[in-house]
Amino acid sequence: MSADQTLPAQAAAVVIGGGAMGCSVLYHLAKLGVRDVVLLERNQLTSGTTWHSAAQVRQLRSTQNLTRLIQYSAKLYAELERETGQQTGWYQTGSISIATNPDRLTHIRRQAALAKAYGVQAEEIGIGELRNLWPLANVDDAIGAVWSPDDGRVNPTDFCQALAKGAKANGARIFEDTAVTGFLKHDGRIAGVTTNAGEVRTDCVVICAGLWSRELAELAGTQAPLLPCEHFYLLTKPVDGIDGHLPTLSDHDSHLYIRDEVGGLLVGCFEPMGKPIDPATLGGNFAFGLLDEDWDHFEPMMVNALHRLPVLEHAEVRMLLNGPESFTPDGSFLLGWAPNSEGLWLCCGMNSVGIATGGGAGWALAQWIIDGAPPFALDEVDPTRFPRVENQLEFLMARAPEVLGKHYAIAYPGHQWETGRVLRKTPLHDRWVKAGARFGQVFGWERPQYFDCVAEPHLTFGQPEWFEQVGREVEAAHKRAAIFDQSTFGKVRVRGPDAEEFLNRVCTNDMTRAPGSVIYTGMLNERGGYESDFTALRLGADDYRLYVGTTAINHDLVWLRRHLRDGEYVTLTDETEEFAVLGLMGPEAARIIAELDASEMARLGYFRQGRFNVGGVDVIAARVSYVGECGFELTCAADDAGKLCDALTGAGARPAGLFAQTSMRIEKRFLAMGHDLDSDTTPMQAGLEFSVKKKGRFAGSDALARLRAEGVSSRLVTIILEDLEANPLGDEPVYAGGRVAGQVTSAAFGYRVGRSVALAYVDLNALPEPEGARVELDIAGERAAGAVTLNAAFDPEGVRMRQSEAFAVVA
Ligand SMILES: Cc1cc2nc3c(=O)[nH]c(=O)nc-3n(C[C@H](O)[C@H](O)[C@H](O)COP(=O)(O)OP(=O)(O)OC[C@H]3O[C@@H](n4cnc5c(N)ncnc54)[C@H](O)[C@@H]3O)c2cc1C
Repeated sequence: MSADQTLPAQAAAVVIGGGAMGCSVLYHLAKLGVRDVVLLERNQLTSGTTWHSAAQVRQLRSTQNLTRLIQYSAKLYAELERETGQQTGWYQTGSISIATNPDRLTHIRRQAALAKAYGVQAEEIGIGELRNLWPLANVDDAIGAVWSPDDGRVNPTDFCQALAKGAKANGARIFEDTAVTGFLKHDGRIAGVTTNAGEVRTDCVVICAGLWSRELAELAGTQAPLLPCEHFYLLTKPVDGIDGHLPTLSDHDSHLYIRDEVGGLLVGCFEPMGKPIDPATLGGNFAFGLLDEDWDHFEPMMVNALHRLPVLEHAEVRMLLNGPESFTPDGSFLLGWAPNSEGLWLCCGMNSVGIATGGGAGWALAQWIIDGAPPFALDEVDPTRFPRVENQLEFLMARAPEVLGKHYAIAYPGHQWETGRVLRKTPLHDRWVKAGARFGQVFGWERPQYFDCVAEPHLTFGQPEWFEQVGREVEAAHKRAAIFDQSTFGKVRVRGPDAEEFLNRVCTNDMTRAPGSVIYTGMLNERGGYESDFTALRLGADDYRLYVGTTAINHDLVWLRRHLRDGEYVTLTDETEEFAVLGLMGPEAARIIAELDASEMARLGYFRQGRFNVGGVDVIAARVSYVGECGFELTCAADDAGKLCDALTGAGARPAGLFAQTSMRIEKRFLAMGHDLDSDTTPMQAGLEFSVKKKGRFAGSDALARLRAEGVSSRLVTIILEDLEANPLGDEPVYAGGRVAGQVTSAAFGYRVGRSVALAYVDLNALPEPEGARVELDIAGERAAGAVTLNAAFDPEGVRMRQSEAFAVVA
């Protein structure tokens, strides 16, 4: 491609990087009508990772919306040639996943169930059919397989050229040999880029620089946590028996994917522990570059490949290709606003799905830039979801290879990362270690999942090893008193004379209530969907503290700052690490506070808060509960948390972990952002209209008025399962009358009701009268029946958490 010569002084948008992501963003911005869009590529298009990609396009992802992005890609790759005259190399070959052990079979059956719910074809096939589809493979040890006919592959270079051609036809310009060297900013906003060929002023920059994106983000004063790892596939010369295109054979128990390539074989792998690359070693000249072959590292994969493909024994090897690919700390990519940098967007960290997702991600980001909102909820790829500590090189060097290695791992419930742990400790961490906590990592924090853990549990899709222990913790909170360490909540202090007016503008609930109030509220986007939900304590006339979800803090700070108006007198302070929060829950909470000389705390009404001294520690006590028992959330200085905890345990409270809390909140139908709420769900769907004020405008109120008039088409329901053995995990399709009617968003065993309980959104067209209806969940291909209610499974009237009799005795 010949490069345009003169760099413009001004552009509507600048896209940095000419790989799959950059070409797709550019194409879609131009196609959607943005004029004067430029792409700056420091070498040549596709010269980073894209040119050597294996370029498989597997449609199913973990969520419906990520799957929709790939469905869009597949359609685009099939149609782009007609539009541009440039071939994309798209072949719809289909793919097969095989299982060689029962847990993998459960895993692929769960995937097949999800695929059907998402409109992707997938069906279980017999071993005979598997042999017909892949005659060269030794499948003697296979115990099951799933066939997905919609999957395919593309030629990564050709499809980028087609995107570039299409973009240019719509007025976009591409500058090769043009390296971005820095960013221009004005009042914290992006104002342009500097390059080796001059400046381009713009208020919209998209970083699509592949493995170099983290360094560019740092130059712009923000973070893009990703790190390249070495990524391998073996190529052979033509092999007898390969004639035309075969489906991709995914043998994830062997860490392999296999397909034909120019009459030979391509055997790719996600080995159990990858090899990280210090990005400083891959400088600006790494164009069309490859890394050294590493046969020692590949050998275990070669052994697996020889077992699966005996024909390999005599095949002539062309090369062991080794190329760099970026991985993020949680295995999902980065798409959306960069944290704390208005006008800067990220589209990078693709975790080896950049070709599959490229078309859809570029389209979604272009829509987002133009409309100010993504076409649908993409919360799981929100770049603000990582704490700063997870952007550190040392952490990424440890975590990225594990993320590569877990790409094909069985998705067991309770899975935890092994590397990069103990980044952030709550003030009670050492006590929890002594109490035998098994920790889970959330936003870098170590949070106790359950206690009295004697050994690392063996993970399973069946009843987990922690089942009884979690039951004991629930029982403590239900019958006596338990302490939940909620210190990881994000805490945002909102102060100033305009605080009330500001919060009323961004929150659904009425924030005008008197100091001493506790207010549960949502923050909505312009589509009426949830950006966040939180509890606010009104500490004074001009003073609120917001308790937001652990992972939501960065996102919520960005969202709040974006809504501040010029001249508005409001300060926002992140107080997360300054304070600890201990939930004291259960019928003995009243006795415990009385023993600790804080009996006046019992006078607090439900959803009220105040300052007290508990066992010698100053606290703010809020009379709320996320588990549906009577109790308090106690906020104290982080340094005092140990003393408070010792006082509470000394008076008889016992620690309870996250699994107990999750089970209890699901029984109580208390919703969690990222599970039951996302930026597509509205208060009406979620049944949270009680937290929407009746009067006044606020962010999202126009959309709510419109949606109310139209009527909702789906509702969040509780499903109480009949089968005591059923073990839903949280994403199963819901069937009513033989067809898919919804999807589970959270599920757990409910110890207080003695059944598994799921929360799910159901389509009201498929299930017009949900209350009392009978539905089925597809759990790994097995149907489990359950009864639907719009209420909570446990204590729907909320009697237990509101009850004041026990408190009245001590008050
Ligand atoms: C061995 C292997 C197999 C793979 N198989 C698959 C697969 O089967 N399916 C799949 O979906 N994905 C696969 N992938 C992943 C996929 O190839 C990548 O996710 C995708 O190519 C990433 O595209 P990108 O645009 O983000 O990055 P890149 O292609 O690396 O593009 C980034 C560009 O930014 C440019 N750049 C960097 N810094 C600057 C700067 N300062 N100024 C200007 N330009 C800059 C670079 O020169 C580069 O061209 C595979 C990857 C590998 C390595």
